[in-house]
Amino acid sequence: MTAEGSDKFHRTLEKGSHPPLEPEFPRRAALTLALVASLVACRSTPEPPPCPRGFSMDEARTGVLLDALSRVPEGRAARDAAKSSPFPRVCFGPAAVSALTSEGVIMLDASLGEGEAAARLGHLLMHVARGSPLVLPDDRAGCDAAVDRALAAEADALALELRLRRALGVASPKIPYAFEEEHWKVEPEARTPLVLAYLRAHPDGAPGLDALGAGYARRCREARP
Ligand SMILES: [Zn+2]
Repeated sequence: MTAEGSDKFHRTLEKGSHPPLEPEFPRRAALTLALVASLVACRSTPEPPPCPRGFSMDEARTGVLLDALSRVPEGRAARDAAKSSPFPRVCFGPAAVSALTSEGVIMLDASLGEGEAAARLGHLLMHVARGSPLVLPDDRAGCDAAVDRALAAEADALALELRLRRALGVASPKIPYAFEEEHWKVEPEARTPLVLAYLRAHPDGAPGLDALGAGYARRCREARP
């Protein structure tokens, strides 16, 4: 998957409206009518858009995953925290990297087993509850720090995903996080920092990961030219 594609897939929910777009709006004369229409629609209707092509909803399967999460204290907490936000539409399909879009649609890889999919869903529900990992700074000079905070939020979510995998008994996961084994070898307080160090060292992506660092940096530069 290209960096651009990965980034698009990993854009996370910005709660409610789209505050980062508003100040730019009057200057963007080139915005197409379609984009304006979707922006307005998004602001007045919190309902997420339909599943993208190739993906479909499966309420029974979503319920199974939420039930699996609820069997683990941390999973139940992630589920409950997300329920106070507009709950995303969960779509199953051929997602190279399961992700949450800025419009509130979760695209889950349909080929994941139950425990692994539930753990990934827990990761994405943390983003739903906490908002987008990337909080745009006032100007471009703040982008480096904003990207690092976004990576820290991703490290939190990935570490949660690893704990959920273990708690749910995922034995041979399909998503091959290269840091998983080492994460479990170090002391508990060193685990999330280890994941963050890995994300900082792999801005252009790695097995199981989008180009998170590069993608957030580009989004920040595009929003704060
Ligand atoms: Zn994430």
